[in-house]
Amino acid sequence: MSGALLADVSQPAAEQPTEAEWAAAVSAITRLPADGRILLICHVNPDGDALGSMLGFGLGLRRLGVRQLQATFPGRPEVPEPLQALPGLDLLVPATAAEPDPDLVICFDVAAVSRLGDLADRLDRADAAIVLDHHASNTRFGGIHLVDPDAAATSVLVEKLLARLGVPLDQGIAECLYVALATDTGSFRFDMTTPAVHEMAARLLATGIRPGEISRRIFDTRPFGAVRLYGDVLGRAQLEPLAAGGRGLVWTYATLDDLARHGQRPYTLEPLIDSVRCTAEADVSCVLKQVAEGEWAVSMRSKGPTDVSRVAVALGGGGHRLAAGFTGYGSAPEVVDAIRAELARGATEVGHGPADLQDQE
Ligand code: 5GP
Ligand code: MN
Repeated sequence: MSGALLADVSQPAAEQPTEAEWAAAVSAITRLPADGRILLICHVNPDGDALGSMLGFGLGLRRLGVRQLQATFPGRPEVPEPLQALPGLDLLVPATAAEPDPDLVICFDVAAVSRLGDLADRLDRADAAIVLDHHASNTRFGGIHLVDPDAAATSVLVEKLLARLGVPLDQGIAECLYVALATDTGSFRFDMTTPAVHEMAARLLATGIRPGEISRRIFDTRPFGAVRLYGDVLGRAQLEPLAAGGRGLVWTYATLDDLARHGQRPYTLEPLIDSVRCTAEADVSCVLKQVAEGEWAVSMRSKGPTDVSRVAVALGGGGHRLAAGFTGYGSAPEVVDAIRAELARGATEVGHGPADLQDQE
């Protein structure tokens, strides 16, 4: 998710890339010898922006004639099923097989080194590292920063870098970048959906890609087991209208047993927060996704008045005003107790205006 005017509580907003930074990125790529080894890395548990940006750029590098090219991400080498038809997936290698000594590393949608897991050492080993990202909280790791917190998705920066490299959009690249852009703008619904976002979408669509088919595959196709799983998890949602200083809290949780019972993988739970956050009576929504016994990956969203990144940071995580997360420990009610207490602590703070409603992924 990005961060436009949506200041991350822990970091000052980053500057936009300078001409010198763009030039440095182009030169780091074009000065490589023909057998130069390039390693592309996106964040752990990649979403449509992370994978789409990385693979779209990889396809562009291939068009430039780069031969020693790998794309990877830390952790389990598992691509969520809806993203398994992305063009360029043949570039992917498991983290364990990633080039140990690349000449150039390029990171996509990665706000901090911690999101690179065991692959972080490649930054030190490479001669150069380019970081393409749009998180306001980007910690400015790596050498060459193409970080624009006003960009709706990392793919916005990818399209610009490809243009500066003289790589034209083809259908493969366009589909990857379209999936990335549609993912991070909530299918062009969030406030960061500027005229420039629609202009970029128009350039991508002009290659002849099919938005209906892509959206159906990426956003609107689930196994029946997922539908039953969603029924169980949404069926136990709790509404607390008095929480968050009277703005309301809605929450639910999904256990490993829920996943096993319906034969589903953890990534199947990601869209659930979008159903929970529909609740009119609550500003704040949370989904607790069990990772292990006593450990939960928590997704939080706000409609505007509540700064959920403040809550997430206080509980050891991060994110943006309207979309944030952290790892919670203990039972589900204990994790919700901690969230409720943090929300109560922040409820006396002054709310922010409409300019703050930009940010999602
Ligand atoms: P999501 O709920 O979609 O997983 O994440 C929403 C936002 O919160 C994203 O911008 C993501 O980077 C951030 N986020 C989610 N979980 C964590 C976490 O455990 N630690 C940190 N630092 N950020 C997180
Ligand atoms: Mn993103």
